Amino acid sequence: MSVRVVARIRPLLDAELERDVIVRADRKEGSSKTTIVKIPNPKNEAEEFSFGFNGVYDLATTQEELFSAEVSPHIKALFQGLDVTIFAYGVTGTGKTHTMRGGLKLAERGVIPRLLSNVFRRAKKIAKDSAGETTVDVALSYYEIYNDKVFDLMEPPEKRTPSGLPLREANGKTVVVGLSERPCSDLKDFEALYIEANNNRVTAATKLNAHSSRSHAILRVKLTQTTGQQILESTASAIDLAGSEDNRRTENNRERLIESAAINKSLFVLSQCVEAISRGDKRIPYRESKMTRILQLGQNRGITVMILNLAPMRSYHLDTLSSLNVSSRAKRIEVREIENEIVFKQAPRAIHFTGSSIQRQPLRP
Ligand code: ADP
Ligand code: MG
Repeated sequence: MSVRVVARIRPLLDAELERDVIVRADRKEGSSKTTIVKIPNPKNEAEEFSFGFNGVYDLATTQEELFSAEVSPHIKALFQGLDVTIFAYGVTGTGKTHTMRGGLKLAERGVIPRLLSNVFRRAKKIAKDSAGETTVDVALSYYEIYNDKVFDLMEPPEKRTPSGLPLREANGKTVVVGLSERPCSDLKDFEALYIEANNNRVTAATKLNAHSSRSHAILRVKLTQTTGQQILESTASAIDLAGSEDNRRTENNRERLIESAAINKSLFVLSQCVEAISRGDKRIPYRESKMTRILQLGQNRGITVMILNLAPMRSYHLDTLSSLNVSSRAKRIEVREIENEIVFKQAPRAIHFTGSSIQRQPLRP
């Protein structure tokens, strides 16, 4: 099992009034790649926190570039029988849905339609190269986890049972009992199904007076490659996680608190699993939330990519820091070489001095 954790910083939007950017990508000395995210310490702006990742993509990164760098290299492995999981993690408004789903224009398409398009292309090639001896079937499941309950998004919200779909363990795999699977043979098929299911998601959330950013949405692409008697199955999962913001600061009604507890717990378990996998631990705490249990994170041989989405503005400061803390493997504090300006109220003029260059101990090794 391998896991990559990368960060993507979104640009400021034209309509956004706030222009105060505090998050930036940086590179290690001597490296040509950006792997560091820098952000000021909110308690002392003269200090800067540095968080290390396997890769950091700045605001100029296009959908195509992110896909080519982080998803496309794993498609071969998917066809060799490995399970591939791509997560988007981050505060609401940071670009998770943009990254996973993206816009309608070709250049704006996100990870999910690009993944499907590549899968169909490769499937066609395999069928052609094997002169029809190997067939590749693609089937889609799409569901959400809301308050630790599983709901099928391929079904209209009226058909939901309040308790959600049960889970069962079979042959060492967790299955969602009663989850529908829709065969899908080309990108057009996929888009029709995907649009319908996303509408179901929004309608269901509206009925509960909630927002779809408060559930985890999981798209599962199942590949079945058949050659004579041989069958090879593998899955690609693309996940748009619930917003990781700390809702205690803004909302305090009972429904929202129950949601927040469920979201926080599942995101916490997810981060524990990712950390344990990347350390090479034997014990992965995947059983401790439904989301990680369904994905069997760390149980299957496979590849996991976690994309941390970040908004660069100051209004996200504390939530950005907490999401960086959850997903980064290394954090350092640095003292910035900037001039502090001290103004004495009684004094006729300002006195300038340069910030000290004391290196702090790293918070985490
Ligand atoms: P989330 O799903 O995390 O709540 P969204 O994907 O909805 O966030 O993004 C919030 C807004 O920012 C949307 O209007 C989206 O189109 C825009 N956005 C996010 N990332 C980018 C990006 N990399 N480039 C351009 N616009 C982006
Ligand atoms: Mg979203």
